[in-house]
Amino acid sequence: MLIDKFDRKIDYIRVSVTSRCNFRCLYCMPNTPFEWEPHENILRYEEMFEFLKLAIDEGIKKIRITGGEPLLRKDLDVFVKMLHDYKPDLDLALTTNGYYLKEYAKVLKDAGLKRVNMSLDSLKPEVAARIAQKDMLKRVMEGLDEALDAGLKVKLNTVVMNGINDGEIVDLLDFAKSKNVIIRFIEFMENERAYPGIKRVDSKIILDKIKEKYSFKELPKDNSASRYFEMEDGYVFGIIEPHNEDFCKSCNRIRLTAEGYLIPCLFFTESYNIKEALRAGDINKAAHILKEVVANKPEKNDWQDEEVSTRAFWETGG
Ligand code: SAM
Ligand code: SF4
Repeated sequence: MLIDKFDRKIDYIRVSVTSRCNFRCLYCMPNTPFEWEPHENILRYEEMFEFLKLAIDEGIKKIRITGGEPLLRKDLDVFVKMLHDYKPDLDLALTTNGYYLKEYAKVLKDAGLKRVNMSLDSLKPEVAARIAQKDMLKRVMEGLDEALDAGLKVKLNTVVMNGINDGEIVDLLDFAKSKNVIIRFIEFMENERAYPGIKRVDSKIILDKIKEKYSFKELPKDNSASRYFEMEDGYVFGIIEPHNEDFCKSCNRIRLTAEGYLIPCLFFTESYNIKEALRAGDINKAAHILKEVVANKPEKNDWQDEEVSTRAFWETGG
């Protein structure tokens, strides 16, 4: 079992399979050039799998595949199937911008994927295109329907930005409700790579806007990153508030990047190279590094102190 020095049980790993992305979201990588790591610097699926088997044997119960845009990496279904076959009851999830879900939702479901979190920041094609710097909403909506048809459990993620999409909070909620999927509103996490003009909207303001139309009560907190709320008709939505004091108390996750670094916390740049150990077939060393990462997981992020992270979210997997 993996337990950190603040007594948090680590049973969740987010795995970035690529740093590449076909979008340039304002809050993530608005100005990143299309230059990427050479192929040989990226962990092969087999190398990731060797490490993940070890992590699963140590108590990891949930794996989320992310990026960059994970659906840009070839043969993702093969990787999903490797993990699923190793431990069929693994909670196997994907975070995606949705652009290629139309093509891949079914094949991923058949390979053993259980859940998908899809980014949806606006219902207006021109606003969505402004945020992602790509005309993409129609395809993303088709991808959502395809994922639902395939029988995947879907959640929507919305990063709320002042003056850009904060006027759409209730519309997005109503849309998610109409599709019977949970939507989670995420406070923008300040980082050096984001577009400088982006301003976050605090969770309190998001909840106040929803309160103008709906009554809801908070559900007991589980160990996910979200707080969940239930409306009178039973519909549930969530808020992710990394600026909240309590946010890190239940953190149960670490991250693996496509380049082979293990990362204890999304905010900080600290990382541990596991690629060399994996390429040398030294699984004992990999196990030692995994324990070190868990032992050195910081108590909390610094967004709570209004700091700006220098970590690139598209490398870490957001
Ligand atoms: N490309 C996929 C997507 O957009 O869903 C997966 C990778 S993306 C980095 C993972 C998540 O991070 C997305 O839900 C995205 O909205 C979120 N994200 C990225 N930058 C963020 C920021 N500065 N603040 C809050 N959330 C952010
Ligand atoms: Fe790409 Fe996701 Fe970052 Fe948007 S949030 S630029 S879709 S990695």
